Amino acid sequence: MRIETLAVHAGREVDPATGAVTPPIHLSTTFERAADGSYPHAYSYTRSNNPTREALEKCLCALEGGAAAAAFSSGTAAAAAVFHSLAPGDHVIAPHDMYRGLARLLSEQLAPWGLQTTFAELSDAAQIERAVQPNTKLIWVETPSNPLLKISDIARVAAIAHRAGALCACDDTFATPVLQHPLALGADLVMHATTKYISGHTDVLGGIVVARENDAFFQRVRKTQIMEGATPSPFDCWLTLRGVTTLPYRVRAQSENAMQVARFLRGHARVVATHYPGLEDHPGHEIAAEQMEMFGGMLSFQVEGGQAEAMAVAARVRLFTRATSLGGVESLIEHRASIEGPGSRTPPNLLRLSVGLEHPDDLIADLSQALDGA
Ligand SMILES: *Cc1c(COP(=O)(O)O)cnc(C)c1O
Repeated sequence: MRIETLAVHAGREVDPATGAVTPPIHLSTTFERAADGSYPHAYSYTRSNNPTREALEKCLCALEGGAAAAAFSSGTAAAAAVFHSLAPGDHVIAPHDMYRGLARLLSEQLAPWGLQTTFAELSDAAQIERAVQPNTKLIWVETPSNPLLKISDIARVAAIAHRAGALCACDDTFATPVLQHPLALGADLVMHATTKYISGHTDVLGGIVVARENDAFFQRVRKTQIMEGATPSPFDCWLTLRGVTTLPYRVRAQSENAMQVARFLRGHARVVATHYPGLEDHPGHEIAAEQMEMFGGMLSFQVEGGQAEAMAVAARVRLFTRATSLGGVESLIEHRASIEGPGSRTPPNLLRLSVGLEHPDDLIADLSQALDGA
């Protein structure tokens, strides 16, 4: 079935007990045992499994074309479960411009635990090859990346990983399963911050790991989910599942809007660079055109001048909201270097946009007045 159909139906069925068309939220933390001690419905305790969480896992597994999925209370918890399923002494290759929180997780939390990480430019195959070590067990790819919208060739990274005897995991948060299928391109695992496009309404945190095979490594991820306990609440799962129903239509509209905004910014005299993989002169455009259906709702641009000029533009917007995060129905603008803090490699004159579902003319008018203002 096609993604629009899966988004509405996968993991859901009419409730057999009541006929309810909308899936119920199973808030119960515990489930009755039969007289013989068995669990007739296969649920025992909500941290281990819960019907609402299972519905979300089934749905996202179907959307990514995987064999199994595990849901978490945040995107960070989902990624952490993958890292914790490795062993102390293992080596990970991750992108320089990895989602900042995950880069810090690797270097501040997991390095002391014994996980080694090399940060490399993952859009450059030669650099990845050079970073491979005998103990490399995972190559983590994030494409498009944050905030420069760099593109990595997933099939190529996966091939390098497999030659090295390592797994390839892809943070697919920016692209979503609507635009990109990392598992079909050779990745072993896909991770999403469902906080972003998948839930889509800026009202629930969550994460998911989807695996191509329900193999021993995924079983470790599942064990980490249950034993470390960063599981999402049934209500959060329900909200996320509700958001998924419109995911394909939201993401396509956001991609169309972002393309128009990118074209406007590229033609503006006060914009010195526009980073959007849909623009033909973007260095990753060709690979993006091959591995993505459209180019997504995220873009960034650099304002003539420095941090002060960029901040001044962000200060003048009226329709965009100055806030972090992305993937919601409303458009957001963010000065990344200042939120990333010391050590950030992000250019100080860069502003990142999460383009929402407003009319593109209104978004462009807002950016136009903000760029042209005093
Ligand atoms: C937001 C985000 C994360 C982290 O997700 P949380 O739900 O905030 O923990 C990871 N990767 C990317 C690309 C993100 O945008």
